[in-house]
Parts: sequence; structure tokens; C-alpha cells
Amino acid sequence: MQFSELPLNKSILKALTEERYHTPTLVQEKAIPVILKRKDVVVAAQTGTGKTAAFALPIIEQLFDEQDTEKREKKIKALVLSPTRELAQQIEQNFKTYSKYTNLRVTAVYGGVSLEPQKEILKKGVDILIATPGRLIDLHKQGNIELRYLKTFVLDEADLMLDMGFINDVKRIEELCPRKKQTLLFSATIPEKIVELANTTLNNPEKIEISPENATSKNIGQLLYYVPKKNKTDLCLYLLRNTINGRIIIFRRTKFGVDKLEQTLLKNGYKVTSIHGDKTQSLRNEAIENFKNKKATILIATDVAARGIDIVNVDAVINFDLPNIPETYVHRIGRTGRAGKSGIAFSFCSADETSYVKAIQELLQRPIKIIEDQPFPLVKPKHKKQPNTISKHKKGRKSEASKKKKKRWY
Ligand code: AMP
Repeated sequence: MQFSELPLNKSILKALTEERYHTPTLVQEKAIPVILKRKDVVVAAQTGTGKTAAFALPIIEQLFDEQDTEKREKKIKALVLSPTRELAQQIEQNFKTYSKYTNLRVTAVYGGVSLEPQKEILKKGVDILIATPGRLIDLHKQGNIELRYLKTFVLDEADLMLDMGFINDVKRIEELCPRKKQTLLFSATIPEKIVELANTTLNNPEKIEISPENATSKNIGQLLYYVPKKNKTDLCLYLLRNTINGRIIIFRRTKFGVDKLEQTLLKNGYKVTSIHGDKTQSLRNEAIENFKNKKATILIATDVAARGIDIVNVDAVINFDLPNIPETYVHRIGRTGRAGKSGIAFSFCSADETSYVKAIQELLQRPIKIIEDQPFPLVKPKHKKQPNTISKHKKGRKSEASKKKKKRWY
């Protein structure tokens, strides 16, 4: 199928051709015709599948016809809620790209930056608003946002929105919108709480699923390294020197871990940048910009900070710490292998993380390939012996010999 076969107007098709989008991705092919029929949808698709255009294109198409008559009326007609600022900026950018040959006015509002410029833009009138929940509520309280005329409400990355504790904000915002509207819920995973949210806020939605297997297996190689916790940095440096090239995102569980690894990699001469929740918005933007324009080739991030960020040519992902939520693994490795490109994901598992691997493999419904031929293998800890009396020399030889005999225990 080609984009030209979808009922999209010429202005949109022209912008898509310029972006060299010719064929819709699977989620676009499935979702666009349904959304154009003004049906509610629940779409299970992660970032990297082309989901932003899957909701942006039909929204632009629907508003395009009305743009001249309603343009000067300062009504927000479509609202996209995003859990993070970075994702909001990215969605805004995508809408602007796809709608550049229309007169539609698109803007994003999010926290961490001054309110005033956002108020100014809203005053002039906006057709499509992208917002993080907290900032939207602030602006609404101050009388800068009117949602009564909304036609389309999009909840993007809904699972992350709930994980980040935005459920009450989302419900409040939903109440500010008219009852009669189209609601589009996009979520990487559909846990029970998303089903509940969909049941209470959507009207007989059509369900579209792009499964994690489809989204991850085709283009992304997945490799697993069992490694002692204390050797993870050594293994990371070893892989960066010998195996991994190009643009790399490294995930760590904590902000402290991100900062520590950044210092180590900088000392070793790598061009590194990082993002996590303790950094100011301008530092986060700068880090992403540096990573995009290749001033930095390695980005170290926590999950929430990196979620949804679209950088097309990421060659590899390193899961320096394994996530305790299996779905997070799918989100992380989805940073690579995007838009049909290939990518590779390296996961480090220390002794205390083996249960996470089990959960991830259950979700993927297949094992991840284990790399045993590496310099820092994890071996089963021995029970403590009597005080060690073996000479240094002997000890070395013994451990060499026993290494060969040692069997995998994980
Ligand atoms: P998303 O899942 O929305 O974050 O999109 C992932 C990436 O795929 C973005 O860089 C998009 O610009 C790109 N993309 C989306 N749809 C298409 C398409 N039909 N053809 C080529 N690239 C696309």
C-alpha cells in the first residue's frame, strides 16, 4: 500500500513525499482508515512503529477541511496528551512537518519552562495542542485553555502516563473536554489498568494491536551477557572498544548510575551525553540535540527520561541495568531498529537480576541469545571456604582450570 491510496489530501501527501515516506507502516495502515471514520481506537504500538503519524495524519486530514471557516476562532480542536516533555516536543515537530502545507496552528505546552511564552501562543489561537498533563492543568486554571470545542482527544503512551502517576490528571482533563468527541488511546502495552481506562473513557473503541513481537523481533538483534555487577563497566568499555559502533543509548536504572557511567566514559575519551529527571529541561534538550547532531555518540538515560524519544539512527542499545518491568525492556530496545532499520540490543545481567531475564523472556515468548565468549562471565558464587591457603600462583592456575569446567547456572 502507498500513502497516495489513503484518503489524505494533497497538502499532506506533499509533506510526506518530502519526508520520503512512501509506504505506511503497519500501524498507520491499520489505524488511519479507522480514525478517519471518526471511531474511537485503542492502539497497542510502541514508539518506533510510526504511531505518531498514525494519529497525526488523520487529525490533520479531519481539520484541514475546516481550517478556513474555523481558523480565526481560537478553538483547540485536537489535544494530544503526552507523559513527557521530550515526547511532547517530538509530537509537535511531527505535526508541524506533516501539516506544513496547511494553515493549521500546532503548539506544545509542557512544564520545566516559563509559562508566559506558552500563554502568548495560546492567545493567538491554536488548532492542535500537544501537552503534558501538569502544564495543561496549570494553564487551564489560569484561564488560558478552553477545551469545550475539542473534537479529538489523544492519549499517547498511555501506559507510561499511568506509570508516572498521571491517572487523576488524565481523568480531570477528560472531564474538561466535551462528551461528544473522538478519543484515540495509544499505548506500548495494554495492562489491566489501561483496559479500565479505555472502558471508562472510550466509546466502543476499535482495537488495533501491533504486538511487541512484531515490533521488536524483525530488525533488532538481542544479546544477553551474564556479568558480575562489579564488572559491568568493564564489559561496557570492552564492548564499546571491540564490538559496538555508531550511535548508542545506554540505559541505567538510577540517576546516580547515569552520572557515574557518564564520568567514566568521558574519562575514557567517549563523546557522551546524558538525560535524567534531575536535569533541567534546557540541559535535557541540549543533550538530545547533541546526540541527534552527533556531537555525542553515546546517550546515557533513565527510562522515564528516554521514553518515546525518536532518534532514527540509533545503532545499539545497552541495557546496563535490566529493567524490573519486562515491558520496559521492549520500550528500551525499541529505541533501535526503528522505521525498518536494523539495530542491536546488549543486555547485562548480574546475579541479582536473573529473575528479570525470566520475566522478559516470558513476555517475548522466546529466549534471548546468551553470549558466553566474553571476558567477564558471571560464575556461580562459591560457598565460603576455610581461610585460603593456596599460593597466589596456584590460585591463578586453579581458577583458570575451574573456569573451563564451570557450567552455566543461570
Ligand atoms: P514514531 O513511532 O512515531 O516515533 O516514528 C518512528 C520514526 O519513523 C520517526 O522517525 C518517523 O519519522 C518515522 N516514520 C513514521 N512513519 C513512517 C513511514 N511511513 N515511512 C518512513 N518513516 C516513517
